Amino acid sequence: MQKVTLGKTGITVNKNGFGALPIQRISKEDAVCLVRMAYDAGITYFDTARWYTDSEEKLGEAFEGMRERVFIATKTGAADVETFWKDLNTSLTNLRTDYIDVYQFHNPAFCPKPDDGSGLYEAMMEAKAQGKIRHIGITNHRLAVAQEAVASGLYETLQFPFSYLSGRQELELVEACEQAQIGFVAMKALSGGLITNSAAAYAFLAQYENVLPIWGVQRKHELEEFISYIEHPPVLTKEREQLIAGDREQLSGEFCRGCGYCMPCPAGIEINTCARMSLLIRRSPSKSHLTEQAKEMMKNIENCLHCGKCKGKCPYELDTPTLLEKIMKIISGYWPAR
Ligand code: SF4
Ligand code: SF4
Repeated sequence: MQKVTLGKTGITVNKNGFGALPIQRISKEDAVCLVRMAYDAGITYFDTARWYTDSEEKLGEAFEGMRERVFIATKTGAADVETFWKDLNTSLTNLRTDYIDVYQFHNPAFCPKPDDGSGLYEAMMEAKAQGKIRHIGITNHRLAVAQEAVASGLYETLQFPFSYLSGRQELELVEACEQAQIGFVAMKALSGGLITNSAAAYAFLAQYENVLPIWGVQRKHELEEFISYIEHPPVLTKEREQLIAGDREQLSGEFCRGCGYCMPCPAGIEINTCARMSLLIRRSPSKSHLTEQAKEMMKNIENCLHCGKCKGKCPYELDTPTLLEKIMKIISGYWPAR
């Protein structure tokens, strides 16, 4: 079984973390069952967030009476100190615990530091001194914020998107974390559904000893797939290398990762789905993408106000309105005539 140690935290876990965002979409009973199935298979790192609706409550129920056997990471999107404490106390209640192993700032637009005027980092230190949190982490989608967090020496873990579609700068971030002994938690290892070969995704990440991928799972068969890799980890065969090279070629350049940070759109455009529609249709063909409802959703792109708000918020610096127009043209022929 491959293991990973998160920097200086002393947290050593199976090299498969559980991303608990998707369990907010299933019943409490099913979620508890899924989470316990992961634990029984050897997974002990569970990552959730205050923003993931009832995900924390479901983890709380799943680990009642066995809290000390797992590591729980959660996040706060607080922009002020009052909200920070409110979030932390709510998370502790939901998770039915008196401590959180890794408490993370959830994708802040800036890197919180002592004396920056926000008081957020000081609140983290106070929470740690009180024993309510054990380690301070940060998650981000913006390279500049992540780089600043690593350079600051203030964070024990960094959570950042990392997959075989990542570029040179993300690889440098992984290396910088290794050198600084900061735990690297990889989110979006399947690039928001664009990577359809989980074995290739797994084999790629397995090369990086300091990286802990967290797999967002919602269904039993998805979890079974990752569990099977614990005993039989996929390796980078020639075929997988070719597949990765093909995907990199097909998806190189500008593509939407579906993170949703550009939302909401004043025209009601579902940007994070619309901007990926052509890729989703091509890479994971499914009738569910070609419904009348989806057609209407795409048609709404015509109502774009060109306000530029989305473009300014995209951490990948995409020219989102132009991308949407391009995609609209590409997919217009996909829907069958009525
Ligand atoms: S530019 Fe268009 S898509 Fe972007 S936020 Fe404005 S209205 Fe929405
Ligand atoms: S356009 Fe950018 S911010 Fe919006 S969903 Fe796609 S990657 Fe995320």
